[in-house]
Amino acid sequence: MRELPLFPVTTVGSWPRPPELLQALRARRRGELSRERFDEVAGAAVRQALGAQEEAGVDLVTDGEQARDNFYSFVAEKLDGVRLYSLAGMLDVVDDKEGFRQLLDTLDVPAYAIFHPACVGELRSREPLAEDELWRLRTLTDRPVKITLPGPYLLTRALWVQELSRDAYPNKEALGDAVVAILGDEVERLATLGADFIQLDEPVLTELVFTQGRTRTFMCASLAARRDPTEELELAVSLLTRVLARAGAARTGLHVCRGNWSRDETRLLSGTYAPLAPWLERVPVTQLVLEYATPRAGRLVSPGEKELGLGVVNPRSDEIESVEQVVERARVALTEVEPRQLFLNPDCGFGTFASRPMNSHGTAKRKLEAMAAAARRLREELD
Ligand SMILES: [Zn+2]
Repeated sequence: MRELPLFPVTTVGSWPRPPELLQALRARRRGELSRERFDEVAGAAVRQALGAQEEAGVDLVTDGEQARDNFYSFVAEKLDGVRLYSLAGMLDVVDDKEGFRQLLDTLDVPAYAIFHPACVGELRSREPLAEDELWRLRTLTDRPVKITLPGPYLLTRALWVQELSRDAYPNKEALGDAVVAILGDEVERLATLGADFIQLDEPVLTELVFTQGRTRTFMCASLAARRDPTEELELAVSLLTRVLARAGAARTGLHVCRGNWSRDETRLLSGTYAPLAPWLERVPVTQLVLEYATPRAGRLVSPGEKELGLGVVNPRSDEIESVEQVVERARVALTEVEPRQLFLNPDCGFGTFASRPMNSHGTAKRKLEAMAAAARRLREELD
């Protein structure tokens, strides 16, 4: 694990893809592009995403998830037993078809352009999930790197589609065991290879506490309309704990937000992290990577002994936050955490879903520049 400065500047992971990469992703999905050719196009895009971060002054960089169609669908490329469906295609297989159709409309989700991985057979690793991304980053940068992975709860919930999965697994718990084994192997491998930061993404946890069991996420097509949030949160904590037990001494992060597929903030959830805090506290992770720039996140909730990855810019807005604004947000956080506990990040990725980026390369870069300038000022103040 390499040394980071105080107030390290980082991203949550994804970056908008250039047009040639979007084309390559589509061609690859249709089986019309070789892996080699795709990797060339993706590699060029990673260099651009990395260039923007390095020029902006980011301390802990990512590959922008450029080779992924989205942050969890990409596992279909790496695992046997997983098939990709467009969200529109999922309508044929989910239990509550009308409910799911309404959900896609209400949430402003592009149903034909977003792809969802579903378990259709026994899960087997064809190749590591993100090891190739780590190796590629290593050839392109000397900076410390963050690798993101879908969290085990999200992945279990996304993959479990009863009608498709029940021949391979009797229930979602059995599928969860398979997901834990695969993600645990991956976390251990990345830690052994010296990834500086391993982040698990669990954006659906907020759904459980804010929707009173009336979960409305399209990312987990089969979450029934009414579920006991406590039972689901216990499942999430247990899956995360088992995966993180494989991380050794690596620095790990858990990212939880309230959705990042629409620029219309009224379509996204609101509420503080307070109801989630007792569960987050139990997850054995180094850092909570949270959104706080959006007013939808409400007041800051103490991360306790954990590090805090503080969301200081909104990835969905055109406005570039001023350095003063970012510094002020950090100051508020510093009333709850020590300087050594604080990282600065955007609220979420800039391109969680390849087909629905939240911002342009240029705007995203300028937001990172504001963050890096704020970090420099905070460091100077502390000297
Ligand atoms: Zn997010």
